[in-house]
Amino acid sequence: MAVQEADERKLVWPEHSHSNRQPIESRFERGSAYVDGEFCPIEEARLPLLDWGFLRSDACQETISTWNGQFFRLQDHLDRFERSLKRLRMQSPETIGRIREITHELVAICGYSDAYVQIIMTRGRPPIGSRDIRLCKNRFQAFCMPYMWLAKPKDQQKGLSLFISKRVRVPSASVDPFVKHYHWLDFEMSLLDGFDAGSDTVVLVDLNGNITEGPGFNLFTDVDGRLVTPSTGVLDGMTRRTTLEVCEDLGIDAAAGIVTERQLRQANEIFLTSTAGGIIPITSIGKQPVGNGRLGPKTLQIHTAYWSRRAEGWLGEPVKYELARRP
Ligand code: PLP
Repeated sequence: MAVQEADERKLVWPEHSHSNRQPIESRFERGSAYVDGEFCPIEEARLPLLDWGFLRSDACQETISTWNGQFFRLQDHLDRFERSLKRLRMQSPETIGRIREITHELVAICGYSDAYVQIIMTRGRPPIGSRDIRLCKNRFQAFCMPYMWLAKPKDQQKGLSLFISKRVRVPSASVDPFVKHYHWLDFEMSLLDGFDAGSDTVVLVDLNGNITEGPGFNLFTDVDGRLVTPSTGVLDGMTRRTTLEVCEDLGIDAAAGIVTERQLRQANEIFLTSTAGGIIPITSIGKQPVGNGRLGPKTLQIHTAYWSRRAEGWLGEPVKYELARRP
């Protein structure tokens, strides 16, 4: 991918490899799932109604992507998943080695080169008539779909509009943010508020009014020439981690720290980071432009580095397409 001149102010993504792989059967065109030890087309995947993953949001997950047939930071995702399991006192019915194989197989079945995979552990359920969490048998399930964009490339090109919600992100003292969990009602209600206000997405505050994170992403902003990403009350996102590493390589000053609402409103650059879309520019807060309302130079530089490295298979693990078998 050609490196873009910063003053062109245009985002570029690497060409897809246009893999000519096909799903093993046409019913896997839209995705695959793994439930109760079996692979099936994603549209056929079902969960038991009584699983506390559904009844209590008692679950953790990991979202992993492939690009050009390469998983990104797969081992780091599996390590983070193990950390979530430990913190939730869950026992996986599958070994992590087997989960790695299942993750490969889900993508292989679909034949995708650019995929979005979620691996999920739910609490399961206790015997009928009991509410004893210790009796639950934890359940593993997973699915794969085509690569998912938190914001479509054409919308990223002009940058998104951000709404700063007055709602407080579920505090870390209540729910551990280092567990990648599904406590999203605060995000979902804020998103509806943000859409009502004409914005594309939202970020939530903490109990002190400082900026935290949004539905499926971390945030970076420039504060006095340094890029800062909120340090507390947030998931340590894989793309956030990657961005801090890329900044170090590129000589861009970046760190985790407190970000106040005022600092965010005065920023010249803001971007979001997520497995679902990479580095995503924000060019306005409500109707107020961020800086001059155009894509910021650091955002462009980091976006270019992120996607060109991914195209080259940086921190990658090739998908084992040979694992595709008819279920
Ligand atoms: N914060 C929250 C609450 C998330 O759910 C996610 C991803 O789903 C992120 C941050 C971004 O994390 P990652 O870069 O690992 O996708």
